[in-house]
Order: sequence, then structure tokens, then C-alpha cells
Amino acid sequence: MKISIMTLFPEMCETVLNTSIIGRARKTGILDFSCVNIRNFANNKHNSVDDAPFGGGMGMVMSAEPIDLCYKNICENSETKPYLIYMSPKGKTLTQEKAIAFSKYEHLVFLCGHYEGIDQRVIDKIVDEEISIGDYVLTGGELPALVCADAICRMIPGVLSDDLCFTDESHFSSLLEYPQYTRPAVWNGKEVPAVLLSGNHAEITKWRREQSILITKDRRPDMLKNAELTKKELKELEVLDLE
Ligand code: SAM
Repeated sequence: MKISIMTLFPEMCETVLNTSIIGRARKTGILDFSCVNIRNFANNKHNSVDDAPFGGGMGMVMSAEPIDLCYKNICENSETKPYLIYMSPKGKTLTQEKAIAFSKYEHLVFLCGHYEGIDQRVIDKIVDEEISIGDYVLTGGELPALVCADAICRMIPGVLSDDLCFTDESHFSSLLEYPQYTRPAVWNGKEVPAVLLSGNHAEITKWRREQSILITKDRRPDMLKNAELTKKELKELEVLDLE
């Protein structure tokens, strides 16, 4: 998969994209990232990419032209038409489901805003979808783009060591993950649940599933509506009264 990030701070993105699991997948060629500096497409003496908002008000607005030219350049160097996501607090919230859907694209482009945002006319012209990472406002779109890229990339075969790494995790099947433990078996006087030391895999799977349902019921009961629970599980765990 190819991911291009249109940004004023490419070095900020590069650092993250070269690190840990994503960095390793980049090195092996499973992931192909390019961080493109929007400022390189500013056709003016001062390399300026923003201006004061029409109608007055605080801050600056990113100009349409450098962004349009930057995207044109990315498209000219792409074999397929990319899907352009503008990171914006006004967008639909990123979910695991959305991350899975985005992971099917051959080429994604993230557009990172700054200051007061981006001239609406270029958004209307080139953006396919606006995505938010939550109901709060950050100073720029780089962290949201990296959050989005990370969530998407770990869905791509070969990025994680095994598909089980994500199919078993929180949010994948509308359940939160069961508690995890590692050595030592007794830490600070606390023992790990005995079933995990039993070697009985069927019992361990059953315990983990129960824990997942219980923790979801406790913390995110809204999610259980979409979880595929058997009638027996619903009864046993007394969640039949869900709306
Ligand atoms: N004036 C804008 C508003 O009120 O909607 C906020 C602009 S914000 C300071 C600057 C940039 O940060 C945005 O253009 C966007 O790219 C990014 N950003 C901030 N918060 C975000 C969020 N929750 N999700 C995605 N992107 C966000």
C-alpha cells in the first residue's frame, strides 16, 4: 500500500513512520510512504502557504493553490487515482471499521491542515472524505494523519506477525480485549488467573471470551449491540436487557 502525506512538517511524519512496526514494514517494502511538503508548491516569492481569512477573524487559513498543485503532483506520480482524506475535527470519527475499509485502497493521501484550517474551495475540489480522530482540536493534522495511518497499516497483511494480532483485539469484533498477563506468575503478591496457567486451551479461550464480554459490558455497553454473542452468552452474562 502507498500512503502520501501532504504536510507542512514532513520531518515530523518521517520520524514516526520510520519507527517500530510501521518503520519495519516500510523497510521491507510492504508500506510505501511519501511525506510531501506543501510549501514546495508555493508559487510566490516568500514561499507563503497561508493568508488571513476573508471576513476577518483570528489566525491564518491555508491557501488553496499550493495544496491543489501538491495533490496534482502526487496524482501525476501515481498509477491509480488516490483516495484523499482530509484530517479535520469536522470529519466523521475514525473507527476500526473505517480503518479496515481504508486498508483496501491501493493509494491513500492524507491532507494535514494547520492554523485555522484550509480554504474550503480546494477541500470541495479534491477531498474524498474528512476524518476526525475525536471530539477535540489539535494544532495540526500531522498527528491525526499518523494515528489514521497506523490504524490502517496494521490491518495490511504482513505488517503484524500474524493476523490474529488484530482479529483478537479490542474493537475488531465489537468487544474490548480481555486482560493480558506475562511473567512472573506472581508479582507484588498478585497471582495471574489460574486458568491461564492450566494449559487447557479450550478453557483459556472460554475465559478470555467471558472477560471480553464482561469488560465491554462494564466500560462500553453501547458496543455490545454489534457484537456477535450467542444466546447462551447473553443469558449467562445477563446482558439480555440491552436496548
Ligand atoms: N478551525 C478549525 C475548526 O474549528 O474546525 C480547527 C483547525 S485545527 C487548529 C488545524 C488542523 O488540525 C485542522 O485543519 C486539521 O487538519 C487538524 N486537526 C485538529 N484537530 C483534529 C481532529 N480532532 N481530527 C483530525 N484533524 C484535526
